[in-house]
This record gives sequence, C-alpha cells and structure tokens, in this order.
Amino acid sequence: MTTTALPTRTEVAIVGAGPTGLALAVSLAQAGIEFVIVDQLAEGANTSRAAVVHARTLEVLAELDAADPLIARGEQVTRFAVRDGSRRLLTVPFDGLPTPYPYTLMVPQSDTEAVLLARLRALGQDVHRPYQVSSVAQDEDGVTLTMSTGQTLRAGYAVGADGMHSAVRKAAGIEFTGSAYAESFVLADVTMDWTPGRDEVTLTFGSAGLTVVAPLPGGHYRIVATVDDAPATPDLTFVQRLLDERAPGLARITGLAWSSRFRVHHRVADHYRAGRLLLAGDAAHVHSPAGGQGMNTGIQDGYALGQAFAARQLDGYEAQRRPVAQRVVSFADRMTRIATTHNKTARGARNIALPLLGHLPAFRTKLATELAELNYR
Ligand SMILES: Cc1cc2nc3c(=O)[nH]c(=O)nc-3n(C[C@H](O)[C@H](O)[C@H](O)COP(=O)(O)OP(=O)(O)OC[C@H]3O[C@@H](n4cnc5c(N)ncnc54)[C@H](O)[C@@H]3O)c2cc1C
Repeated sequence: MTTTALPTRTEVAIVGAGPTGLALAVSLAQAGIEFVIVDQLAEGANTSRAAVVHARTLEVLAELDAADPLIARGEQVTRFAVRDGSRRLLTVPFDGLPTPYPYTLMVPQSDTEAVLLARLRALGQDVHRPYQVSSVAQDEDGVTLTMSTGQTLRAGYAVGADGMHSAVRKAAGIEFTGSAYAESFVLADVTMDWTPGRDEVTLTFGSAGLTVVAPLPGGHYRIVATVDDAPATPDLTFVQRLLDERAPGLARITGLAWSSRFRVHHRVADHYRAGRLLLAGDAAHVHSPAGGQGMNTGIQDGYALGQAFAARQLDGYEAQRRPVAQRVVSFADRMTRIATTHNKTARGARNIALPLLGHLPAFRTKLATELAELNYR
C-alpha cells in the first residue's frame, strides 16, 4: 500500500483509480496538468475482471506509452468466430484491420491497471490511498471533496471515475438511465481442452443464452455466459454442463480457477458534465460484459477527457464520448437479441444469412471494425 499525504488543493481531482481514472491521470501528467487521484481501496484490485483489450484501446495506450508493456503481458487473438451450438456461422479476422494492433489482446484487468500505474509512477505521480470521498460540493469557483477521514481537497474540477455507484454522479444530480438485464451473467476462468483452440474468441448463439469463450494468458480460458438463473459461485460441473448444452462436444474443462455470477445493468448517464463535475468510465455507462467493451470504453473516456483538459475544450467531451457509450449499449443489446431469439423462423434466417454475409469482405471488415472499436477514433 502507498500512503501519501493528501494535498489540500489541486486543479483536477480524480475520484477512483480503476483503469479509467488511471488513464486520465497519465494523460494529465503527460500534459503537465496538476491533479490528485484518490481511491478508497488500500490497494488496487487484483482480480482478472475485464480480460479483453481492443485495438482502439491499444492505440490510446500507445499515446500513454503503456501499450508495449501491456502487449508483453497478454495473448494476441486474431479472429472472432460466431457459432450456433458447435456449428460455425461466421469468422471475422482482425488481422487485416488498418491499425498497428490488428488483434484483440487478452490480458487480466489487474495487469492493465498495473501497467497504467507503473506509467503514472514513471511520470512522478501516484494514487493517494485509501481515501474515500464521502461528499462533493461545487460552487462558482471550484469543488470541495470531503473524505471519510474529514480531510478536504479543493479542486478546479472533479472527475467521477468512481465506478457504477459513482458518488460524483450522485452529487452532480445526473440520472443514470437504463435498467438491469433480466438474466444473470456467469463468468468463469478455466483450464480446458477447447476444440476451437487459442487463436479465436468464440461467441455461441443459443436460445438459452449467449456464451463467449476467449483464451487468457497462463493457459486459461475466460467464459462469459448469460444464464436465466445461476448459482452465486458456479462450480466446474455447472460450467461444464453449460458448455455441453451450448457448444456440444467442443469443451472438456480440467480446472476452474475462479467463477462468479453477476447481475448486470445497461445504463448511460444523461450527461457527462454538470458544471465542474465530469464523469468517465463505469460512472458514466455500464453494459453487458459479453462484448468486452466496458473497460475499453472507460480507458478511451479517460484519455479523451485528458485531451479535453489539455485543449481547454471540456464542452466537447460529452458530445464526443456519450454517443460511443450509447452505441456500445445498443450493439450489445442487438447482439443479445439476435443471439438468443426463441423464434424458429428468425433463427433459421439468421443461420442462413450470417454465413452468406461472412463471405462479403465489406461485412467482415465492418464487424471487425465495430468490435475493435476503431470507428471511435
Ligand atoms: C468481476 C467483474 C468482471 C468483469 N468482467 C468484465 C469483462 O469481462 N469485460 C468487460 O469489459 N468488463 C468487465 N467488467 C467491468 C469492468 O471491470 C469495468 O468496466 C471497469 O473496471 C471500469 O473501470 P472504471 O475505472 O471506470 O471503474 P472501476 O474499475 O469500478 O473503478 C472505480 C474505482 O473507484 C473507486 N471508488 C469508488 N467510489 C469511491 C469513492 N467514493 N472514493 C474513492 N474511491 C472510490 C473504487 O475503489 C475503484 O477502484 C467486470 C467487472 C467485474 C467486477
């Protein structure tokens, strides 16, 4: 744990040192803008959580001098496959994408945070921990943040990078419009014999729910699946049965490293700015983990906000980034609806159309670009 004395004044106060807050902090440090970043946790979380880093995020991380060390820790996957059960419907290659990073990088979120933190320290800055912001009040001249210890921090602006239950968003009076998904999400990191192998991310469609399987460093695979009703901690037997039903004959699980069940919301903040208070990352948008876009969008928000501070163009930030979150949420919803339709005719049409569309280079490129988030440049 790093214990650092909390300054009393700064230009930008960042609440939350997850991937979003760290990306913003590095951007501000590079631009020479004074800031203080606080987090309520004594140490960064060390669980894997978001495991996918898309090409556009790697481009952003390259601007922060953080792409190469992250790539060194991860595993590169060059194609995305869609299946109905075990039958392949479509393969989308990433390796033709116009980017220096024509792949998806699989790497645990704790590694992404560690690389950003190392970069922040290399720039002579650090996270102030553990400081929980308990109240936020803005006036004409600035923002006063009060910690649960009673200490105060006065800032020109405060950024809520403080996750889904954001205290900054609540203080700003910004609504978080949306609702919870009806089904729960099962996440599991396993070792297994997986017929499609380690070179692809696989999405399987099925009326019981959609399932994503992706390789993780260390010989593991990450499984994300929507399930109507799952146990709080799914065991190996549960996850094996899930794959037997949804990808018959493709998987034999040999070990379960970690698993969990989540209730997930899809919500976007009505605004990203209220006066001197700004929002980024999960504080501003949450959605299905199936597309692996939560953390990616957050890092890109942090970077964009850093650029907006550097250019003194804060007004443009919401216009630039809020439509991205709306698009990510609707893409995930559309994908879920197509994947899980119970309608036999619709399913049949989908299963005929997708392989045909998959032969069209323009369709494959469009889908690869959307998944890699390269259209958000
Ligand atoms: C178990 C799990 C699995 C996930 N899997 C995936 C996945 O597979 N793919 C995907 O894309 N996304 C996934 N996510 C979501 C992903 O982790 C988030 O999108 C990402 O962490 C968002 O980053 P953030 O920095 O905006 O917020 P967070 O990571 O939530 O960070 C917020 C930080 O703010 C701090 N904080 C909060 N309130 C205060 C306060 N009042 N004062 C001080 N500090 C405060 C917290 O301690 C935390 O460190 C998963 C999340 C979880 C929990």
